[in-house]
Amino acid sequence: MADPGQALTSLRQQFEQELTGARTESDLRGVRDRYLARKGGLVSGLLKSLGSAPIEERPRLGQLANTLKAEIEAALTARLEAAAQARPPKGTVDVTLPGRQPVIGHRHPLSLLRERIEGIFTRFGFLVIEGPELEDDYHNFEALNMPPEHPARDMQDTLYLSSPVRSLAGTAATLLRTHTSGMQIRYMERNSPPVRLIAPGRVYRRDQFDLTHTPMFTQVEGLVVGEGVSLADLKGILTAFARELFGDARQVRLRPSFFPYTEPSAELDISCAACGGRGRLAPKPGMNPSGAAGLAAPNPGMDPSGAGGCPMCKGTGWIEVLGSGMVHPAVFEAVGYDPERFTGFAFGMGIERIALLKWGVEDIRLFYENDLRFLEQFRP
Ligand SMILES: [Zn+2]
Repeated sequence: MADPGQALTSLRQQFEQELTGARTESDLRGVRDRYLARKGGLVSGLLKSLGSAPIEERPRLGQLANTLKAEIEAALTARLEAAAQARPPKGTVDVTLPGRQPVIGHRHPLSLLRERIEGIFTRFGFLVIEGPELEDDYHNFEALNMPPEHPARDMQDTLYLSSPVRSLAGTAATLLRTHTSGMQIRYMERNSPPVRLIAPGRVYRRDQFDLTHTPMFTQVEGLVVGEGVSLADLKGILTAFARELFGDARQVRLRPSFFPYTEPSAELDISCAACGGRGRLAPKPGMNPSGAAGLAAPNPGMDPSGAGGCPMCKGTGWIEVLGSGMVHPAVFEAVGYDPERFTGFAFGMGIERIALLKWGVEDIRLFYENDLRFLEQFRP
């Protein structure tokens, strides 16, 4: 058994330390209970242990122990009283406490991207127009050089309404628009050239809901009409747009394509960011780099199945961004523009597709599942 005299001294030291360390009233009450509790308190434990001291020592040790107990009681009472006095009156607000940060939401990534695209074209002097999602056959197909028997209608897997409804534009709508190109027609019907506009909005197709398709997605259509508007203007505007959105380092090319309402038509491709346009990823250390890996220019002839082929661009070095072309004269005739006098170009892109490319997202459905852990990653 420890020497009772020594136990007394070390208990005093321990108490002084704990008292200094106690910051709050509840800390102080904790110390009080630990030392002064009748049952199991450290002081009563010490008093009991004096029974094992030599009989002639007991009176002196008992006196010392009682003094220590009185000191502990007095010190605790003083501190608890001081703490009670410092306690703010009930209902007081401590203005020195740090504020609670409100959780602020933000716009959906697709909205952010749409605003970004609108911002770029607004700076290029384009008007932003919107129109009805319920559309009639004339504005969705016929005026865009797709008469009823035109095979191009097969390209669009359209969602038709079971019965016509009156659209916002006042016409009898029979379908959910498959593109926002109808807005080009609506605008040209009411306005004379020059025209410089984009039409963003939701469009609908009978597509599967899978990695790269949704039955509803967001499109941005653009139209420029004037005297002397040429393919060079198309390339200039779209190149400036692509570099603004994807960065100056990207190569841009036009690739011949086909759309019923433009002639000639072209897809705009940008060089792949994942492989730097080489069509294959940089060889891993230890691998023998083949000749193609050192090519600076994109290499469309590469075998996509080859080892190291870039999965992002499937080995071509290029990523398709949007469709475009010079407006077909038949479209101008439909809206009463003189195709001998005016020329123009049109383009269209899917915002979801651009989002996948820009942020390297692999599954388009993530944008529609409203999982905040995903959505919160895209801040303005
Ligand atoms: Zn690539």
